[in-house]
Amino acid sequence: MIAISVSVPYPPSPLHEPTIDEGVLRPTHVEIDLSRITGNYRSIQDHVGDAKVMAVLKANAYGHGLVPVAKTLEAAGAHMIGLAYLEEGIRLRRAGVSVPILILGGILGRQIPSYLAYDLTLTASSVDKLLAIDDAAAQAGVRAKVHLKIDTGMERIGVHWYSATPLLEASLTCKNVDVQGIFSHFANADALDLTHARMQLERFLAVTQFYADRGLKTPMRHIANSGALLQMPEARLDLVRPGILLFGVHPSPDVRRSIRVWPALSWKSRVVYFKVVQPGHPVGYGGTWTSDKLTRLVTVPVGYGDGYMRAMSGQAQVMIHGKRYPVVGRVCMDQVVVDIGWDSAHNGDEVVLLGGESEPICAEEMANWANTISYEVLTNINTRVPRVYV
Ligand SMILES: *Cc1c(COP(=O)(O)O)cnc(C)c1O
Repeated sequence: MIAISVSVPYPPSPLHEPTIDEGVLRPTHVEIDLSRITGNYRSIQDHVGDAKVMAVLKANAYGHGLVPVAKTLEAAGAHMIGLAYLEEGIRLRRAGVSVPILILGGILGRQIPSYLAYDLTLTASSVDKLLAIDDAAAQAGVRAKVHLKIDTGMERIGVHWYSATPLLEASLTCKNVDVQGIFSHFANADALDLTHARMQLERFLAVTQFYADRGLKTPMRHIANSGALLQMPEARLDLVRPGILLFGVHPSPDVRRSIRVWPALSWKSRVVYFKVVQPGHPVGYGGTWTSDKLTRLVTVPVGYGDGYMRAMSGQAQVMIHGKRYPVVGRVCMDQVVVDIGWDSAHNGDEVVLLGGESEPICAEEMANWANTISYEVLTNINTRVPRVYV
């Protein structure tokens, strides 16, 4: 594998710190295989047939690096990009990404002019917000692109399915707004039991019937996240919104694995210290682990300050020379200690934290160590860790 670039920090540092020569960095880094993301995108597009694909790339593309991933998926033919926040959209526009971008989150009135200036599609989640968008568009002398958000049982943002009509009606009278889509979001599409998700889909379809009932063209309807993509073919509608599946990771342990995808990210470091420890000598903060025999320990320069979660203390494993070893004692801010038994490892030897070829450590497994979900594992790997694209 050849490293072709190291990404800039995200968000860009307001201090404009000078970049540090790669040669002096500690060896901890994340490697992202962009061709795998393209492959996963193609598997998903093949699976959904005529439905379009919105690549959901919030939170720094689930830790994979927003700009390189967005450019890769734009080139692969993704119809749209979905993000959480306005600033993520601005960053992509400034980087030259021109595919339509929907900001999925709630908006504040003062932000609307920036949405319009950067040609970002807005989520209208109430009548008030829609009217504010219409006004701002009139003032700016542009047409606003909008998707209407319907809450069908998540209780986060959007008008309730049982009182959605005023929003849809208001959107018909707005002079400066193009309603290009209408959407909702599942609370339980990755679960074994799809009862609630099916009910949400029914509610959504009942709301969108508004258009056919009036002989109007229905805007693009979308509701399917990765869980629904995998388990509910009937929820594909006009467009699907995969996030985590693009990165080759499944949304939950229960979900049906109906599409073949490959993890795109691996997290690696190297041994920086070797020692032999006596039995009965506690290791690390709190002295939570003690060997009962003479053993060899190596220290690896990664810690919870990078997103290698402290909650994994006593659970995590790493791979050295293709073999798994336990992380012992507490995970520190910048270092962990690994028990290699009576095997050998030298300063500079590679340590795989996540990913790897044989017996890979997957995000789902790491999530289990920290008692969390794979989403948090990926988005927690923070900007102190350089991203290298291969
Ligand atoms: C995050 C998100 C998605 C993607 O979810 P995955 O489970 O990662 O596929 C889709 N839609 C909305 C509104 C989201 O917030």
